[in-house]
Amino acid sequence: MSEGEPAQRLEPQPWMTDKASAAVMAALTAGRADVRFVGGCIRDACLGRPVKDIDIGTPEPPETVMQRLAKAGIKTVPTGLKHGTVTAVSQHRPFEITTLRRDVETDGRRAVVAFHDDWREDAARRDFTFNAMSCRPDGSLFDYFGGLADLRAGRVRFVGDPEQRIREDVLRLLRFFRFHAHYGRQSPDPPALAACRKLAPLLPSLSGERLAQETLRLLVAPDPGPVVALMQEIGVLAAYLPQARRLARLKALVTIEGIAAAADAVRRLAALVEGGAPAADGVAERLRLSNEQRERLAILAAPPFVLHPDLGDSLRRRLFNRVDDATRRDLALLAWAQTVEDARGAIDRRGAEAWRALLDDAALWRRRDLPVKGRDVLALGIEPGPRVGELIDALTRWWEERDFEPDRKACLAELKHVIANPRPPGGGPGAS
Ligand code: ATP
Ligand code: MG
Repeated sequence: MSEGEPAQRLEPQPWMTDKASAAVMAALTAGRADVRFVGGCIRDACLGRPVKDIDIGTPEPPETVMQRLAKAGIKTVPTGLKHGTVTAVSQHRPFEITTLRRDVETDGRRAVVAFHDDWREDAARRDFTFNAMSCRPDGSLFDYFGGLADLRAGRVRFVGDPEQRIREDVLRLLRFFRFHAHYGRQSPDPPALAACRKLAPLLPSLSGERLAQETLRLLVAPDPGPVVALMQEIGVLAAYLPQARRLARLKALVTIEGIAAAADAVRRLAALVEGGAPAADGVAERLRLSNEQRERLAILAAPPFVLHPDLGDSLRRRLFNRVDDATRRDLALLAWAQTVEDARGAIDRRGAEAWRALLDDAALWRRRDLPVKGRDVLALGIEPGPRVGELIDALTRWWEERDFEPDRKACLAELKHVIANPRPPGGGPGAS
């Protein structure tokens, strides 16, 4: 307990004292160490925002942490032993426990760390003043760099010199904008902004995973538009994601999501990407997106069709049926965003009602499967090859035009008919 008096108190939060937290705290303080909650959970608790992950700091080395948790029967996962981090799982909830540390060697991407027992020094290695606060379970709040005042004023301020802190770890440059998007309520700190502008060219040295994590977290902020605009203005986006430049469409989508849908990072990224499929590919590569994210981005950045409230019923249903529920919704939202972008950001009430009706219809659509498969084509004596797909495509169009009514029997009859009466390529009834 080397610290002076805490400057302030935080009303102990339910998550600090519930069964899961209490068990972890009891285990970690068995040797009377000064163990505290730290980082994002304290920041968010100070604002009355819901707390996501719980991070805990302790002066004891990770081996001792592991032993204490084991002794208390709490499951541990050595998630980052080299950096002093152990994850405890208590009542099925994760707690990230990190030994107080300093970064001894930094090359802009990773650090070699040394453990110690000085809470102030641990706070000094953190990125922003409001991320450097810590709090004991009894509510004693330690705020070494004026983080609470910054938080209340909506000021994102680096601990120490922005340029030096970014050179130590370039990811902090993106974190600055991410936290600005979520917590900022003032124009950004000029020295920090100058450092970001100057050091933006270092961004490509970061791993795709780290770039992706910060970018996607930034994009789900309630209104990322102004921050993204700033990133564009000072060359941050151009430095690592030059395809992300369609700000007007992002803004339109954010407005629309405010009326009609929950925010979604990949959808927002797709709105921001200019240049269709190749651009989406480039973004997915740079950010090392998961296959699922990559496929979503690809289809949203280069839509297979464009929905619109003016489409006739039958065509609308045909298009609805071509994609899964989530994609259908994404495509409708992006198509709407496109029209709002084209109208220079204006949303009129009648138009909005029509788009919402389209979204409702899209949500109610139950996808139908063609009741005939490729194997049915083979069973009719067609050799495996491209002809199988062509027949299925032709049958699909025929079935769609009949509003998905024909059942398996009718579809098989049509298939036999088409096989027995091949149409000349490019013509004849049913060809489109
Ligand atoms: P969120 O609630 O969005 O997860 P967070 O503050 O918990 O926000 P994390 O990225 O989970 O953010 O990091 C946890 C804490 O670790 C931060 O609050 C900060 O104190 C510290 N931290 C994380 N990344 C860095 C970094 N690159 N440089 C310095 N400190 C960092
Ligand atoms: Mg966190």
